[in-house]
Amino acid sequence: MSQGSFLLNVSDLLGNRASSRPVKVTESVDWKVAMMEVFPDPPLEADLVLHPVSGGVAITGRVRFTTKDTCSRCLKETLTDRDASIGALFDTSNEDDETYPLEGHEIDVSQMLRDEVLLSLPIIEDCGDDCPGVVSTAQTELNTDLSGDDGSSRSPFAVLKDLLEPEEKEE
Ligand SMILES: [Zn+2]
Repeated sequence: MSQGSFLLNVSDLLGNRASSRPVKVTESVDWKVAMMEVFPDPPLEADLVLHPVSGGVAITGRVRFTTKDTCSRCLKETLTDRDASIGALFDTSNEDDETYPLEGHEIDVSQMLRDEVLLSLPIIEDCGDDCPGVVSTAQTELNTDLSGDDGSSRSPFAVLKDLLEPEEKEE
Protein backbone atom coordinates (compact mmCIF):
# COMPACT_ATOMS: atom_id res chain seq x y z
CA MET A 1 0.00 0.00 0.00
CA SER A 2 1.40 3.35 -0.97
CA GLN A 3 0.27 6.52 0.69
CA GLY A 4 -0.54 9.56 -1.38
CA SER A 5 2.20 11.93 -0.36
CA PHE A 6 4.84 9.37 -1.29
CA LEU A 7 3.80 9.50 -4.92
CA LEU A 8 5.61 12.32 -6.72
CA ASN A 9 4.91 13.67 -10.17
CA VAL A 10 8.28 14.35 -11.77
CA SER A 11 7.19 15.23 -15.30
CA ASP A 12 8.90 18.63 -15.01
CA LEU A 13 12.22 16.89 -14.32
CA LEU A 14 12.20 14.78 -17.44
CA GLY A 15 12.36 17.54 -20.04
CA ASN A 16 15.35 19.10 -21.71
CA ARG A 17 15.23 22.22 -19.58
CA ALA A 18 14.65 20.50 -16.28
CA SER A 19 16.18 21.88 -13.12
CA SER A 20 16.42 20.56 -9.60
CA ARG A 21 13.67 21.35 -7.17
CA PRO A 22 12.97 20.67 -3.50
CA VAL A 23 10.04 18.67 -2.23
CA LYS A 24 8.87 17.96 1.29
CA VAL A 25 7.15 14.71 2.17
CA THR A 26 5.36 14.23 5.48
CA GLU A 27 3.67 10.95 6.28
CA SER A 28 2.90 8.72 9.23
CA VAL A 29 4.46 5.31 8.78
CA ASP A 30 4.78 2.14 10.84
CA TRP A 31 7.91 0.57 9.40
CA LYS A 32 9.71 -1.78 11.73
CA VAL A 33 12.73 -4.00 11.90
CA ALA A 34 13.82 -6.26 14.73
CA MET A 35 13.37 -4.41 18.02
CA MET A 36 12.84 -0.97 16.49
CA GLU A 37 9.90 0.60 14.75
CA VAL A 38 9.28 3.99 13.22
CA PHE A 39 6.74 5.68 15.44
CA PRO A 40 3.77 7.20 13.54
CA ASP A 41 3.63 10.37 15.65
CA PRO A 42 5.25 12.72 14.88
CA PRO A 43 5.08 11.74 11.23
CA LEU A 44 8.17 11.10 9.20
CA GLU A 45 9.42 14.25 7.46
CA ALA A 46 11.62 14.14 4.40
CA ASP A 47 13.25 17.23 2.92
CA LEU A 48 14.27 16.07 -0.52
CA VAL A 49 15.79 17.62 -3.61
CA LEU A 50 14.90 16.09 -6.95
CA HIS A 51 17.61 16.31 -9.58
CA PRO A 52 17.18 15.60 -13.29
CA VAL A 53 19.75 13.05 -14.44
CA SER A 54 20.18 11.12 -17.64
CA GLY A 55 17.40 8.55 -17.82
CA GLY A 56 15.75 9.43 -14.56
CA VAL A 57 15.67 11.39 -11.35
CA ALA A 58 18.15 11.45 -8.51
CA ILE A 59 17.07 12.31 -4.98
CA THR A 60 19.15 13.69 -2.16
CA GLY A 61 18.16 15.11 1.19
CA ARG A 62 17.42 14.15 4.74
CA VAL A 63 14.63 12.37 6.53
CA ARG A 64 13.65 12.89 10.16
CA PHE A 65 11.67 10.36 12.13
CA THR A 66 11.09 8.97 15.60
CA THR A 67 11.66 5.37 16.50
CA LYS A 68 10.30 3.28 19.32
CA ASP A 69 13.20 1.13 20.44
CA THR A 70 12.58 -1.95 22.52
CA CYS A 71 15.43 -3.02 24.77
CA SER A 72 16.23 -6.64 23.98
CA ARG A 73 17.14 -7.31 27.62
CA CYS A 74 14.59 -5.59 29.84
CA LEU A 75 12.02 -4.86 27.07
CA LYS A 76 11.77 -1.19 28.04
CA GLU A 77 10.50 0.99 25.19
CA THR A 78 12.18 4.28 24.36
CA LEU A 79 11.26 6.93 21.80
CA THR A 80 14.25 8.37 19.94
CA ASP A 81 14.41 11.15 17.36
CA ARG A 82 16.62 10.19 14.45
CA ASP A 83 17.53 11.34 11.00
CA ALA A 84 19.16 9.85 7.96
CA SER A 85 20.65 11.13 4.75
CA ILE A 86 18.93 10.23 1.52
CA GLY A 87 20.58 9.35 -1.76
CA ALA A 88 18.78 7.39 -4.42
CA LEU A 89 18.23 7.11 -8.13
CA PHE A 90 14.98 6.46 -9.96
CA ASP A 91 15.09 5.37 -13.58
CA THR A 92 13.21 3.38 -16.17
CA SER A 93 15.52 0.37 -16.13
CA ASN A 94 14.23 -2.46 -14.03
CA GLU A 95 17.46 -4.40 -14.20
CA ASP A 96 19.50 -2.54 -11.65
CA ASP A 97 18.82 -3.40 -8.05
CA GLU A 98 20.41 -0.17 -6.91
CA THR A 99 17.80 2.04 -8.53
CA TYR A 100 14.09 2.50 -8.00
CA PRO A 101 11.43 2.50 -10.71
CA LEU A 102 10.37 5.57 -12.63
CA GLU A 103 6.98 4.79 -14.13
CA GLY A 104 5.59 7.29 -16.55
CA HIS A 105 5.89 10.65 -14.89
CA GLU A 106 5.69 9.35 -11.35
CA ILE A 107 7.98 7.99 -8.71
CA ASP A 108 6.93 6.36 -5.46
CA VAL A 109 9.47 7.26 -2.78
CA SER A 110 7.96 5.07 -0.05
CA GLN A 111 10.14 2.01 -0.70
CA MET A 112 13.25 4.17 -1.08
CA LEU A 113 12.58 6.04 2.16
CA ARG A 114 11.81 2.81 3.95
CA ASP A 115 15.10 1.32 2.78
CA GLU A 116 17.11 4.38 3.78
CA VAL A 117 15.41 4.71 7.14
CA LEU A 118 15.79 1.07 8.11
CA LEU A 119 19.39 0.94 6.86
CA SER A 120 20.25 3.95 8.98
CA LEU A 121 19.09 2.39 12.24
CA PRO A 122 21.84 1.43 14.63
CA ILE A 123 22.02 -1.98 16.20
CA ILE A 124 20.87 -1.58 19.77
CA GLU A 125 21.23 -4.41 22.24
CA ASP A 126 19.94 -2.70 25.36
CA CYS A 127 18.60 0.57 26.68
CA GLY A 128 21.89 1.81 28.09
CA ASP A 129 24.02 1.74 31.17
CA ASP A 130 20.95 1.81 33.39
CA CYS A 131 19.51 -1.32 31.86
CA PRO A 132 18.40 -3.60 34.68
CA GLY A 133 19.06 -6.57 32.44
CA VAL A 134 17.00 -9.60 31.74
CA VAL A 135 14.26 -9.84 34.33
CA SER A 136 13.49 -13.48 33.68
CA THR A 137 15.64 -16.38 34.74
CA ALA A 138 17.34 -16.50 31.37
CA GLN A 139 21.09 -16.82 31.37
CA THR A 140 22.40 -13.28 31.36
CA GLU A 141 25.78 -14.24 29.97
CA LEU A 142 24.10 -14.81 26.63
CA ASN A 143 23.33 -11.11 26.55
CA THR A 144 26.78 -9.74 27.26
CA ASP A 145 29.59 -8.67 25.00
CA LEU A 146 27.47 -7.83 22.00
CA SER A 147 28.96 -4.38 21.58
CA GLY A 148 31.45 -3.30 18.98
CA ASP A 149 29.22 -2.64 16.00
CA ASP A 150 28.05 0.92 15.69
CA GLY A 151 26.14 0.26 12.50
CA SER A 152 28.18 2.71 10.47
CA SER A 153 29.78 0.16 8.18
CA ARG A 154 27.12 0.44 5.50
CA SER A 155 26.83 3.65 3.59
CA PRO A 156 24.01 3.89 1.08
CA PHE A 157 25.39 7.26 0.14
CA ALA A 158 28.53 5.71 -1.29
CA VAL A 159 26.35 3.99 -3.83
CA LEU A 160 24.66 7.23 -4.77
CA LYS A 161 27.96 8.99 -5.20
CA ASP A 162 28.88 6.51 -7.89
CA LEU A 163 25.51 6.99 -9.55
CA LEU A 164 25.70 10.75 -9.49
CA GLU A 165 29.24 10.84 -10.79
CA PRO A 166 29.08 8.34 -13.63
CA GLU A 167 32.18 7.56 -15.55
CA GLU A 168 32.06 9.12 -18.95
CA LYS A 169 31.34 6.07 -20.99
CA GLU A 170 29.23 7.77 -23.60
CA GLU A 171 30.59 9.89 -26.38
ZN1 LIG B 1 17.05 -2.43 29.06
